[in-house]
Amino acid sequence: MAKIDPWGSNAVNDYEHVFKKFGLTEFPESMRSQLKHRFFKRNIVVAHRDFEKVLKRIKEKKKFINITGIASSGPYHLGHKADLDLFVFFKSLGAKNYFCVCDIDAYCSREKIKSIAQAKEIAVQNVADALALGLNKKDIYVQGNKEKEYYSFAFEIGKKITAKTFEAIYGHLDLGKVSANLLQYADILHGQLPEYSGKMPSITGIGLDQDPHARATRDVSKRLPYDLETPSFIYFRHQSGLKEGRKMSSSHPETAIFLNDSEQDAKKKISNCFTGGRPTAEEQRRLGGKPEICKKYKLDLFHLESDAKLKDILEKCKSGQRLCGECKKLTIDYLGKFLKEHQAKAKKNLPKAKKIVYG
Ligand code: SF4
Repeated sequence: MAKIDPWGSNAVNDYEHVFKKFGLTEFPESMRSQLKHRFFKRNIVVAHRDFEKVLKRIKEKKKFINITGIASSGPYHLGHKADLDLFVFFKSLGAKNYFCVCDIDAYCSREKIKSIAQAKEIAVQNVADALALGLNKKDIYVQGNKEKEYYSFAFEIGKKITAKTFEAIYGHLDLGKVSANLLQYADILHGQLPEYSGKMPSITGIGLDQDPHARATRDVSKRLPYDLETPSFIYFRHQSGLKEGRKMSSSHPETAIFLNDSEQDAKKKISNCFTGGRPTAEEQRRLGGKPEICKKYKLDLFHLESDAKLKDILEKCKSGQRLCGECKKLTIDYLGKFLKEHQAKAKKNLPKAKKIVYG
């Protein structure tokens, strides 16, 4: 049975069960075709809660809030890039943008982060990466640098959630994680306060295993003494890790390609990743590969922008025209090029990132 665990690193596979159990709506084709981004076209976004409201605003060319956040608990990997790619897409549709660099959250909820100072240090590179991926200074805020209104709002939220409710949703009462969650609710909702963008629909892209946060945030938004739109969420499949059965996770570096990996490291990781290749070349030529279980293909699905090139990889795999070694080389080439260019951009952005983090 699928289990939703916002802090775990096992991939959620049993989507239908999850949809039914938690009342998620499958992302319909009618909405998918209106959004010109590979994550929608390629069925990476699988479900939603109330996305219609946001789509309506997009079609009417009205503002909506685009809010997401990432804990500054380590270097970004391609899974984080996927979050940011989606954020940049909504930014391109005219959103009011709130990208949260979660330094306090990282310290409160992650054992390995020993101080806020450490989380801030990590945040500098994270912000440089975000800037290199298409965000600018005014799209980004660091939790620890927020105004008093935000903190007072997070405390108000605390008054509206009982320990019993919290335990029922998350299955524990770890106070570090409780405080991190209060900030996360504030992150998603505070943009609608009069001091910020005011009441309007908001969108946050999350993994299916983050749904407990989404349900809690939606629930509390209705009980606060403010006039707020219930926030909307879209749910995407996790970026597969490079090994069998795991999502890409910083806690398991062998499963991930980090944005600061050298071309050589990325090459090594892709060369050793789990594929859907057959035991022998002869068999693969005869039967074709199995892209549906191939981790290298999953990298392409998320990050290869050209639909035509992706289609070619799929066809040549399935027909047995191309063997895994040659196929991996294509991915090594375009991802290696991306990493090199990205790292040069991020390096240029470091002074700006330091300013954003330390003021
Ligand atoms: Fe994966 Fe490519 Fe091998 Fe197919 S040919 S299984 S897509 S590596």
